[in-house]
Amino acid sequence: MNLTKEKIVELLSLEDFSPIYELADKVRKETVGEVVHIRGIIEFSNYCRRSCTYCGLNCNNTLVERYRMTPDEIIHLAREAGLAGYKTIVLQSGEDPFFTASMLGSIIEEIKKEDLSVTISCGEFSFDELSYLRVKGADRYLLKHETGNANLYSKLHPCGTLEERVNCLKNIKKLGFETGSGFMIGLPGQTLEIIAEDLLLLKEIGCDMAGIGPFIAHPETPLAGQPSGSTEMTKRAVALARILMPEANLPVTTSLGVLSQEERNHAFLCGANVIMKKVTPDQYKKLYEIYPSNFNITNIKEDRKNLEKLMIELGRIPL
Ligand code: SAH
Repeated sequence: MNLTKEKIVELLSLEDFSPIYELADKVRKETVGEVVHIRGIIEFSNYCRRSCTYCGLNCNNTLVERYRMTPDEIIHLAREAGLAGYKTIVLQSGEDPFFTASMLGSIIEEIKKEDLSVTISCGEFSFDELSYLRVKGADRYLLKHETGNANLYSKLHPCGTLEERVNCLKNIKKLGFETGSGFMIGLPGQTLEIIAEDLLLLKEIGCDMAGIGPFIAHPETPLAGQPSGSTEMTKRAVALARILMPEANLPVTTSLGVLSQEERNHAFLCGANVIMKKVTPDQYKKLYEIYPSNFNITNIKEDRKNLEKLMIELGRIPL
């Protein structure tokens, strides 16, 4: 469905949003159905060359102990996740120049031998580098635009422009990746108009997937002490994303779950159909602190089983 910016702002401000949630749930049922895709995420490096002001891994945070998993560790972990039932592995990291496209390509090639889908979420790469990752077998690329307002983007990113980010997303799309973008709710300075721009940008890029999550301030960043994004507004944006892009894969984001498990579960009734679960080993997981969250011990098989059970309890089919 097409909606204008003005209409989106009007809908986001509704006192009673329940009719829109119902519509989003209906659209979700008719398009992507009852299946919930469970993706396993490996956070393989927390080194980052960028200085994004909201992110705990930004290069100016000298308090975080940095780590890199070895290619062998990553490949073994992906295999283990595959055995636990995962069909897709998401490889995520800071923007770490140590992991060149060539290195990532070799890792992807090995993981693809396990008959797994691979999503890359490692920040911006050039067209040629992205093309190489695609040739090596990467199926999807996740690169959130973070905010679709150029002014706000430049305030939050001393290290890049919205134009560069969007160009990278357009290259990802051109290369035939399943293309994922997304943005945060509650960034300081964000307005309802900006959220409407965010939603329209997802559609303009032609996103196949979109992750929309609440901002959570990290104490060691310039945005320390700012209030968290609203879980209600996050769900509203997910619902409108479903209505604007009926066929898209829409994850409930980890940050929504960090603020409220109940709200995370409710997001599945507001248009969402994907969830990501960390399979990162404990010693690394506690160091991959984009935003503060409770640290749960990883048990790949058990975690997967529990999540499948939860999806069934919510009336859905885990995959
Ligand atoms: N380096 C990669 C991966 C970034 S981390 C990249 O640039 O794409 C994945 C996502 O976490 C980001 O895209 C951002 O939307 C989200 N994120 C970062 N800091 C956050 C914060 N403080 N609160 C909530 N989400 C955050």
